[in-house]
Amino acid sequence: MRYFPIFADLDAAGVLVAGGGEQAAQKVRLLRKTNARITVVAAAVTDELQGLAQQDAITIVPRAFVAGDLDGQRLVYAATGDRVLDADVSQAAQARSIPVNVVDVPELSTFITPAIVDRAPVTVAIGTEGAAPVLAREIKTKLESWLPANLGALADKAQALRSVVATSIPDGRARRRLWERLLQGPFRRAVLSGAEAEATRIFDSELAGSAEPGSGRVALIGCGPGDPDLLTLKALQRMQEADVLVVDRLVNPKILDYARRDAERIFVGKTPGQKSTSQAEINRILVREAAAGKVVARLKGGDPLIFGRAAEEMAALQAAQINVEVIPGVTAAHACAARVGLPVTLRAHVRQFSVVTGTTADGEPELDWAALASKGAAFAIYMGLGNAPVIRRNLIAAGADPETPVVIVENGTRESERTFATTVHDLSDCVAQHGIAGPAVIFVGLDWQDAGLQRPRTVIVHRRQAQPERRHEPQLICAEVFL
Ligand code: SAH
Repeated sequence: MRYFPIFADLDAAGVLVAGGGEQAAQKVRLLRKTNARITVVAAAVTDELQGLAQQDAITIVPRAFVAGDLDGQRLVYAATGDRVLDADVSQAAQARSIPVNVVDVPELSTFITPAIVDRAPVTVAIGTEGAAPVLAREIKTKLESWLPANLGALADKAQALRSVVATSIPDGRARRRLWERLLQGPFRRAVLSGAEAEATRIFDSELAGSAEPGSGRVALIGCGPGDPDLLTLKALQRMQEADVLVVDRLVNPKILDYARRDAERIFVGKTPGQKSTSQAEINRILVREAAAGKVVARLKGGDPLIFGRAAEEMAALQAAQINVEVIPGVTAAHACAARVGLPVTLRAHVRQFSVVTGTTADGEPELDWAALASKGAAFAIYMGLGNAPVIRRNLIAAGADPETPVVIVENGTRESERTFATTVHDLSDCVAQHGIAGPAVIFVGLDWQDAGLQRPRTVIVHRRQAQPERRHEPQLICAEVFL
């Protein structure tokens, strides 16, 4: 972000507009939404500007700009239509550290004006740093149609009730929850439809109800594999309601932008080789925070119920009689398969699909290797990179065809995503050769060709040249972690 959005208080502030043509008039129209004292300096002005001066809405100084015009001004717009004069205005304003905008010339400006959705006192400012104004306009159009025209009335009402709410409910969290209920529920509908008496009745009863202490609760939220667009609407709502976020390592930091900014954050990720929080400690944190009356969002990668240690957390919360809700997320296997267009079942010959873990607490996974090695088996291995040589060996020992297709998707849906197509025979070599460090899903027994599809071009095909079998398994450097 280069341009930092702020809202400038222009109440009774001086704003200078240099120029008197249509561009200057546009800025004046925008500025007149505020109570700024607007001065237009220009030898000639449009009829519209002249008319405004006659109504004493603006002051016109009928000559060309001079530096002294900047005295007492808080903001300056240059829209003279003359590049040299605009540059002079910009230079003079910058010399006095007054924010200046030269219309359509970002190089000469120290601020830019965003696209605005006006529901004052609710105001939405949209900017693209000049990169794509059309995009800003599109967002503005969407917001204009989405936000009720009289949303401002709701904000004004909230303003009027602020002090009574603050005195009646001293606890900050209880107060925020009351506001959430008021501004999203029946009170909002009553205000927006102009039903004053009804709004007052709802407000009184909500206020009385909020004086009682609230109880804490926990939502185990599936945050998907990384791409925030894969969050569910419910996950988004629960994140917005939370007082505290308890965050796993696999949760993409970008996801946290979707939570309340002032929510407390506790990071409990397990990173190999670094200090991590034990599962027992995580359980204790969840119970402690909810028991203190907080709404807790436990953010987990993928889906909470798939290799997510949800059971332990739910059991600890149930034992403490704390309400727990599970919000599903897109699990890594499904997201990765979707990214590379790889169906995980096929009507004709893949009738079962399983997910297995490639790691256990004590190292080697104990899996039903015979079933996994059987013809037609299709499965996704989570946390399998570190044990790729063991998985390969066990599958082959259990009779798997070494040519069984393998697809590995690393960092699925993230910017660093990579996909490899190989075989069971070349699995561990592929992981080692390409330095696949995870997180990654290893699909076995699935291939585009079997599904009658083309392999995407981005897929890296790894086939080892025929060579004598190595005496030792390749060394793997792997950052994946057992959860
Ligand atoms: N609950 C999670 C899984 C947690 S286990 C889910 O449903 O997805 C951690 C494993 O998930 C990783 O070792 C890796 O195998 C897989 N994984 C998580 N995020 C991934 C991603 N973005 N791309 C590929 N695999 C991922």
